[in-house]
Amino acid sequence: MSYPTESVMTTTQFSSESRGQYTAKAYAAAGAKSQLAPNTIPRRDPGEHDVQIEILFCGICHSDLHQVRNEWSAMPTVYPCVPGHEIVGRVTKVGSAVTKFKPGDIAAVGCMVDSDGDCEECQTGLEQFCPHGTLTYNSPDVHLGGVTYGGYSDSIVVKEHFVLRIPSNLNLAGAAPLLCAGITTYSPIRHWGVTKGKKVGVVGLGGLGHMAIKFAHALGANVVVFTTSPNKIEDALRLGADQVVISRNRDEMGKHVNSFDFILDTVSAEHDINSYLQLLRRDGNMTLVGAPDKPHAVAAFGLIFKRRSVSGSPIGGIAETQEMLDFCGKHNITADVEVIPIQEVNEAYERLLKSDVKYRFSIDMSSLKSQ
Ligand code: NAP
Ligand code: ZN
Repeated sequence: MSYPTESVMTTTQFSSESRGQYTAKAYAAAGAKSQLAPNTIPRRDPGEHDVQIEILFCGICHSDLHQVRNEWSAMPTVYPCVPGHEIVGRVTKVGSAVTKFKPGDIAAVGCMVDSDGDCEECQTGLEQFCPHGTLTYNSPDVHLGGVTYGGYSDSIVVKEHFVLRIPSNLNLAGAAPLLCAGITTYSPIRHWGVTKGKKVGVVGLGGLGHMAIKFAHALGANVVVFTTSPNKIEDALRLGADQVVISRNRDEMGKHVNSFDFILDTVSAEHDINSYLQLLRRDGNMTLVGAPDKPHAVAAFGLIFKRRSVSGSPIGGIAETQEMLDFCGKHNITADVEVIPIQEVNEAYERLLKSDVKYRFSIDMSSLKSQ
């Protein structure tokens, strides 16, 4: 992905007289220490390949919080920042070349809104690795200048290739988080061959973690959840875990040494990953999807003796995202959501920081109309 450079830092103002754009309502942060507050933003009028969507629900990802508070040194935030990349809505307009969508359809958008389309990554359906990709927010906006603005808004305009279909049996508020929390966990779970009989660990029971449990369980794995929150044990079992380990309890951790095929780490804050590496069996893999800014320390011998590996994984490509949504339709999987009005977004962020979400906030965007 390409991220903001000097050229975009100065272009967050826009001219209301420019042609080919309209004004949308949004919630934006003016700075790293600011609360999210009502604002207006420019959106381009749909071009021939574009789909315009009235946003119905937008999930709150912990990445929104990291970005709004400028916590990632690799991806500095350009303000005003309108986060949100778990978007479900209704199509209001389509360009003349659009074939998959028509006004009235339900449509969804995740973390990416564009890529170059012709690099090796795009050609193999791995747009998430495109060197010229555009993220849904805080990426340079080639159409309007400035940066892209995300889903905490009443509408968005996106190139058709990046617009997805939601199976009709899924609840829309619960489907929105599939667009990031869903694909970010589904993709590494599939890549690392999670199937029936594999022992799979999920570290952290938040938005990503609860989706990982659902997917690994649906694929027939033996799922063990590691949590710092004893009050989540019953929920973990209800979501599909076979066992729950309180990760701060060394004795409980010790019982699982050398036993896991795969562990997915979804933790958003600094923590010790070595205590999980020793739980992997020979050739086991631990994949990091959680993205705290501070680098992890890794004990070399924890990897060497059992040829274990640590890797990372970003979201997933467009084809795989559609595959994941169809898998959710078939297995009736959605996120467990607390639906909130946009006016409660700042309180929701504070609860995220306290690991107090059951298990994803989904913003009902109709609440923005009254703003
Ligand atoms: P979340 O809902 O806030 O869940 C994070 C969970 O991590 C918490 O519920 C908590 O689970 C655990 N946790 C939090 N602080 C901890 C600490 N100090 N020590 C140990 N465990 C702690 O967040 P999320 O939306 O799932 O996102 C998780 C991370 O993934 C974020 O860093 C986000 O930016 C990143 N992310 C990455 C990608 C990607 O493409 N790789 C995509 C989306 C999100 P327990 O209460 O169970 O301990
Ligand atoms: Zn996300």
